[in-house]
Amino acid sequence: SSTVVHHTRAFTDDGPVDVDELGGKGSGLVRMTRDGLRVPPGYVVTTAACHVYLDRRAFPDGLEDELRARLGALETATGKSFGRGPEPLLLSVRSGAPVSMPGMMDTVLNLGLSRDAAVALAERSSDTRFMADLVARFHAMYSEIVLGALDDRPAVDALVAQAAPGDDPADVYDRVWAAAEAALDDELSESVPSTPWDQLVHAVEAVFRSWNTRRARTYRDHHGIAHDMGTAVVVQSMVFGNLDDTSGSGVAFTRDPVTGEPGLYGEYLAHSQGEDVVAGVRTPDRVQDALPPDLLAELERTGAELEARHGDVLDIEFTVEHGVLYFLQIRSAKRTPEAAVRIAADLLGDGTASAARALGLVTADQLRQAQRPGFDPDALAAARDDGQVLLTGIGACPGQVSGELVLDPDRARNRADAGASVILGRSVTSPADLHGMIAAAGIVTATGGSTSHAAVVARALGTACVVGAAALEIDDAARTVRIGDRTLSEGEEVSLDGGSGELFALALPATTPAAANEAMDTLLAAAAESAGSEVLARVTLPVDVDTARAAGATGVVTAIDDVLAASGDLNRLVETLLEKGLNGVGALSEVRDAIAGQLAPLLVAAREQGVRDVDVRAIDLLADESRELLQQTAVTTRHPELALPLGVPDLIRAQREGLVRAASSAGYTGRLRLAVRHVSDPSEARALAGLDNGADGADGADGADAPGVGTYLTSPRAVLAATELAALSDVVWLEVRALQAAMFGIPARQFLTAEPLDSYIARGLLAVDPRHELDPVVVHLLRDVPTGTGVRLSGSVSDTVAATLHGLGFRRYAVDLPEVRPLLLGLGRAALAG
Ligand code: ADP
Ligand code: MG
Repeated sequence: SSTVVHHTRAFTDDGPVDVDELGGKGSGLVRMTRDGLRVPPGYVVTTAACHVYLDRRAFPDGLEDELRARLGALETATGKSFGRGPEPLLLSVRSGAPVSMPGMMDTVLNLGLSRDAAVALAERSSDTRFMADLVARFHAMYSEIVLGALDDRPAVDALVAQAAPGDDPADVYDRVWAAAEAALDDELSESVPSTPWDQLVHAVEAVFRSWNTRRARTYRDHHGIAHDMGTAVVVQSMVFGNLDDTSGSGVAFTRDPVTGEPGLYGEYLAHSQGEDVVAGVRTPDRVQDALPPDLLAELERTGAELEARHGDVLDIEFTVEHGVLYFLQIRSAKRTPEAAVRIAADLLGDGTASAARALGLVTADQLRQAQRPGFDPDALAAARDDGQVLLTGIGACPGQVSGELVLDPDRARNRADAGASVILGRSVTSPADLHGMIAAAGIVTATGGSTSHAAVVARALGTACVVGAAALEIDDAARTVRIGDRTLSEGEEVSLDGGSGELFALALPATTPAAANEAMDTLLAAAAESAGSEVLARVTLPVDVDTARAAGATGVVTAIDDVLAASGDLNRLVETLLEKGLNGVGALSEVRDAIAGQLAPLLVAAREQGVRDVDVRAIDLLADESRELLQQTAVTTRHPELALPLGVPDLIRAQREGLVRAASSAGYTGRLRLAVRHVSDPSEARALAGLDNGADGADGADGADAPGVGTYLTSPRAVLAATELAALSDVVWLEVRALQAAMFGIPARQFLTAEPLDSYIARGLLAVDPRHELDPVVVHLLRDVPTGTGVRLSGSVSDTVAATLHGLGFRRYAVDLPEVRPLLLGLGRAALAG
């Protein structure tokens, strides 16, 4: 047999289901058909065909013939005819990329309406208005998606509303079509073909092209999705939710995508076509209230079965035609960060998902967002008491944010670019608003439900969002909103609670989040167990120790410079050093006393929290991240010996003494160690270990042991000597940021500000971004570092960095406080994958 390349695949065809070839929607429909769900018949045009089309602006050879053959098969399967009576076959032409991009690309419904087909349809359904509605919808969608017109045809809508069931179908068709054409002609001077075959071919081409629309590109850029995948196209026979009152369309989630609460959560609009729900033009009803009991039961049962089979929460698009339930799309549900955590924990708990699967259901970013700050509870209560709640809509994505109200996506982006926190207010959002939605800290819309465009996109972005705020009346021209009897102008400060659905008439202050919820603990306990690693949190204030413990840190690290800076003592000490020098009267005892006084509260917190492992970084007047950089530079210029790790041994002694005193006054008896940066030679480590405890004889009086001493490796040289250094030190930390900076010869200070390194990397001048990825040469060096070495990571830690380090065998880490959970997750995932 010949090697014919097939560009299409029927839902019922056998063969492997490849998402890259069939797209997410297409492969989902093939699987649903195989699983025995009631799916309207159809076929998929592959992404390979899309690639050819985008390359040469023409269908690949043979595709047209295949489309014709598939159409014939579809007519047989449905018993209907394309473009003719007595039972006309209408089609939907749907986009479907390998990666889900909800609402970003295009779909044309009700395709195949020639004059003959329309008349036959009216006769079959004995409902001329139904036919008129389909004609108007088709004409509008085709104009918008294939021809690029704006979707606004009030004259046509009026004609449809006037059509009476008994009117002559041919007359009604002619009137509606002519009005629609006239409206289009005003705008574009193009027309919609009345031949079904042409409609089909052009719609498939348009869906191919929709891969490259500006909004699709923006979405992919924002989500880091490759631009070269292309989209598949689904061609499917229509079912009609707008047929009569026993018909309708809806969207359901197998669990609440906002909170993660178990139980079917969905919306339904009787007598509607699917786009109506998603477009957010009419606010739909809850499935529990609106679906007949038998259909609700069927949806619930099927949803639960599918969820168990997929091990994940699903988003189900369905349509009811004359009392019969059809499934149109099933995919992994977009969910809020809070819901992602709850769902993963619940699926793990009830055995639906393995630990590996459950940990895979939450991204590190979702964890970061789930622990984000919220309104100060007192300020929130006061605002409610003071009548500052402007309105309460439907909470679509949690998050408590304040900012200036902006009513237009372009202006929202401009204000955000200028550094403002923006709350975007719209009557309803559409894909054209995406750039403004990305820029906004919060979104509020007047219409639409939990499955509207605004809600779905906000959840994908993790942006606080309230929809269906019916009280919101936007006056675009005046740039004001009326809410009841209050009027706000654009630019006024408001606050939005995407959980409760409230909008407030003032900027509410924010605080750091309350203790992690139970679900997060469950999930992270599973991660920690698999990770088999110690994760220590970098802390500065006593309250940080509680937060570290709650996040699952096994210990803490701190830096004396940070603690002193937070208390304001560092400035004073630096001034003393500038004035008197180190040997000046009392300079070192001032250092010691400051440490004894300021570290004690931290060690009290450690004792109270049962933290028995505190690693302290010695003062480093060269540290790039220190705030008093200029002052410190002045000190090291005046006293250059301070620029060397053991340039002033007495300074190290003074710090140890201060620590011993702090520990004894705090009653802290756990492990305590002092590590010095920039050590690179075994001789330095030997000298450090041999330092006595100074004139005061620190480890005497109170019985506390002198802290162990150790080193922070910051240079390639130190890393190459790591084994020897480790043998001579009580503790060794590897500072990844400093090491990478040294490897690249870029000052570590550059790593702290996004620009200009961001644009440098965007210009393709470095193969890896040393702030977020490990350089392969560094990885190579790390192979010879003893795995007992602690790894100090700065800033946000990517999953790939965690996996690489875990793979190298490291089991002890220190990270910034907010990164404890994301790192545990990443390590747990790496352990389970390996
Ligand atoms: P999106 O990718 O934006 O979700 P879809 O291709 O899923 O777009 O189409 C949007 C909506 O159009 C669906 O949710 C569904 O309600 C409706 N729809 C699509 N195909 C059909 C069909 N064959 N019959 C009835 N309605 C359909
Ligand atoms: Mg869909």
